[in-house]
Amino acid sequence: MGKHRILILGGTTEARQLAERLAPCADIDATISLAGRTVDPKPLPLPTRMGGFGGVDGLIDYLTNEKIDLLIDATHPFANQISAHAAQAAKRTATPVFALCRPGWERKEGDRWISVADIASAVDALGLLGRRVFLAIGRQEAGQFSAAPQHAYLVRSIDPVVPPLDVADCRYILASGPFDVADEIRLLADNKIEVIVAKNSGGDATYAKIAAARALDIQVVMIERAKPAGIESVGTVEAALQLIDQMLPPA
Ligand code: NAP
Repeated sequence: MGKHRILILGGTTEARQLAERLAPCADIDATISLAGRTVDPKPLPLPTRMGGFGGVDGLIDYLTNEKIDLLIDATHPFANQISAHAAQAAKRTATPVFALCRPGWERKEGDRWISVADIASAVDALGLLGRRVFLAIGRQEAGQFSAAPQHAYLVRSIDPVVPPLDVADCRYILASGPFDVADEIRLLADNKIEVIVAKNSGGDATYAKIAAARALDIQVVMIERAKPAGIESVGTVEAALQLIDQMLPPA
């Protein structure tokens, strides 16, 4: 019997950790798929393919042509479209599938969160009076804050925000996690930040800004998740490895 062929939809720390655990497995032939959004992604320990599949039909073709035995959706908690495509393509090809999605952050005592459903609601939640905003939602949707030009923005992203925000006062920092609480406290204090806009991504790598906001009593406009439900989901790499064992017969 040949090796088990696994396709991991990636772009997350968890997908990378899973790849590191699967790479040495002699009975597994896994490929990781990236959308290609990050200009210079860190190399992965598995064969990597780049770019969209061309919608659900393209993903169906890929699963069929590559004889994929198991599809793992390890995309970011806010990558909703690819997750919907993964669920549909797996169903239509009868490919076993599960999601690896880290749990969201829970509100703790001292947190001053305003939970909102989407970016447009986050823009509204900043209010009419100009405030000093730390925008930590990644670059893809940052442009939507041009709708609220009364605020002063500090925008952090891995790659540059193109085009820049159409507002009078905006500065940009390029950085990728993991971030440290003491550094985040310094960043927020030095820039006199009054409110943070964040996605409830979960995980440790970007939690420091939330802890820093609590320490400095700063408000957080927290954009909550809207992942499509419907496929089995686990929250940790360990649980994913167990599920792989259960779903794939011994080679
Ligand atoms: P999305 O809105 O859910 O997907 C948009 C399209 O991008 C999909 O229809 C698909 O194109 C392509 N795509 C997305 N993920 C892919 C993958 N892993 N491999 C191949 N094609 C993929 O996705 P997104 O929110 O733009 O996220 C893109 C990537 O960045 C994902 O890998 C995600 O894990 C990562 N990421 C996202 C965020 C975030 O906040 N959204 C944060 C960190 C990392 P086709 O329809 O042509 O197949």
